[in-house]
Amino acid sequence: KTPAPTNFIRNLIDADLAAGLRSEVITRFPPEPNGYLHIGHAKAICLNFGLAADYRGRCHLRMDDTNPEKESVEYAEAIKDAVRWLGFEWGAHLYYASDYYEQLYLWAEELIRRECAYVDSLDAEEMRAHRGTLTEPGQDSPDRNRPAAESLALFRRMRAGEFPDGAYTLRARIDMAAPNMNLRDPVIYRIQRHHHYRMGDAWCIYPMYDYAHPLSDAIEGITHSLCTLEFEDHRPLYDWFLEKLADCVPARPRQIEFARLNLSYTLMSKRRLLELVREGHVAGWDDPRMPTLVGLRRRGFPAAAIRTFCERIGVGKSDSWIDMSVLEDCVREDLNAHASRALAVFNPLKVVLTDYPEDREEFFEAANHPQKPEAGSRQVPFCREFYIERDDFMEDPPKKFFRLAPGREVRLRFGYIIRCDEVVRDPASGEIVELRCSHDPSTRGANPADGRKVKGTIHWVSARHAERAEVRLYDRLFAVPTPGAGREGRDWRADLNPASLTTLEALIEPGLAQIPGAAQVQFERIGYFYVDPHDSAPGRPVFNRTATLRDSWAK
Ligand code: ATP
Ligand code: MG
Ligand code: MG
Repeated sequence: KTPAPTNFIRNLIDADLAAGLRSEVITRFPPEPNGYLHIGHAKAICLNFGLAADYRGRCHLRMDDTNPEKESVEYAEAIKDAVRWLGFEWGAHLYYASDYYEQLYLWAEELIRRECAYVDSLDAEEMRAHRGTLTEPGQDSPDRNRPAAESLALFRRMRAGEFPDGAYTLRARIDMAAPNMNLRDPVIYRIQRHHHYRMGDAWCIYPMYDYAHPLSDAIEGITHSLCTLEFEDHRPLYDWFLEKLADCVPARPRQIEFARLNLSYTLMSKRRLLELVREGHVAGWDDPRMPTLVGLRRRGFPAAAIRTFCERIGVGKSDSWIDMSVLEDCVREDLNAHASRALAVFNPLKVVLTDYPEDREEFFEAANHPQKPEAGSRQVPFCREFYIERDDFMEDPPKKFFRLAPGREVRLRFGYIIRCDEVVRDPASGEIVELRCSHDPSTRGANPADGRKVKGTIHWVSARHAERAEVRLYDRLFAVPTPGAGREGRDWRADLNPASLTTLEALIEPGLAQIPGAAQVQFERIGYFYVDPHDSAPGRPVFNRTATLRDSWAK
């Protein structure tokens, strides 16, 4: 395996190891189970699990579940599935922040005893009014100097459920004049009666992210805690808790921030994705147009292609947008190398070979992959009548049109060279309904004996043997690179791509299910397709378009 390219995080880790500040590398991926993981999370997963593997350390999977109202078992299970599907294993290291509630509570009591925290009775509105602005310092709460013993007693009564939601909070006593607003006595516990998906009703106070996160990292012995750039301003707070409890916590993790992934033509916040689902713009979290890992999976994106993508975009320290085509190219590369080939016709035009006996049937040997003989071959049936793509025929073609036209020849993929002799129209509409052709029997798997050149090869499906399939042509969910951005007051909904899904009925070669690895196929000359795992039924497959053969979007 080639070593991963270096990046600024590796350099920091290398320096920590060289200086003897660390002797191992333990990272974590800490999703909140409040939705399904998306391609942005894949970047964090590949980064954290990848570093752990490269440094022979380990990566923990931690459910960061301190927000009872939005979390569920369903989401937690989906997160585990998604990480595994991406190809990563946490072994024995699955953790839940909710398992640390008791310890976090005890440390909060300790902070109170150390006069580093106090119980405050300001409500949210009043707290906002006291917080000050970027240019003006905040004002102390009247409760800021509450004696530790009194705060301790109140905090215990908060836990015991003696007060209604919101009546009190526990706040860190830091600095109401700090230029960094995050340090102006942030709330670290709130009273909130809400059933927790794991803890039930055991708690009615819950710790805030900024408090729970550094301490959870410390409990697990995390050495390098990687998060996205918007937490850079929170790092002083992360370090503050660890410093105030330095003699209590078992480890001293280091927070390092990296740029989050922004991908064009899609949205990536769980809140927005939830709106897409709830409002019915998509069929669910696993709709193949969604940037969720379940969606990409159902679309047919191989996990390996997503890992390649994450490696290719790298990790940096400045926010930028990655074009969707970068991801799609990774998918095409992977599928070009691995997907079985098959024949399908999406927009059929009937062809009758007038010089081919009606009762005859033969089979052509067809390679399942042009570059991989080990992928084997299959026998594709052929008879007097078959279908070709309507746009592989032109009645009055330009010179450079190398497909079928009156009097011209073309090769049928795996089969004979045929010539178009006659065009049959519907007398009423004038529409072309059939081509009458003849074939050169000596050209089965051979070039014409007289040396004449036939440039084009087209795909086809035998009329007698064809099977039918539903095909879903998925395209980008949004029609513009940055949905909802750029124009004042424009809603992202207005940027939805109205043509993100078209459905059609296709004719496919028979026995597709027998091709090894047939879940992912390239319909030759059309695109890459994936057998929909939910809606396909025996004899009634549904194919999702994973990607076109080439990038057709303007750059
Ligand atoms: P969202 O804003 O989409 O709801 P989140 O950050 O709130 O995402 P978490 O479940 O807290 O979701 O994320 C878990 C981890 O994934 C965090 O460490 C976070 O930094 C990382 N992560 C989330 N989104 C991205 C992204 N777009 N690019 C890189 N990492 C991300
Ligand atoms: Mg979060
Ligand atoms: Mg979020």
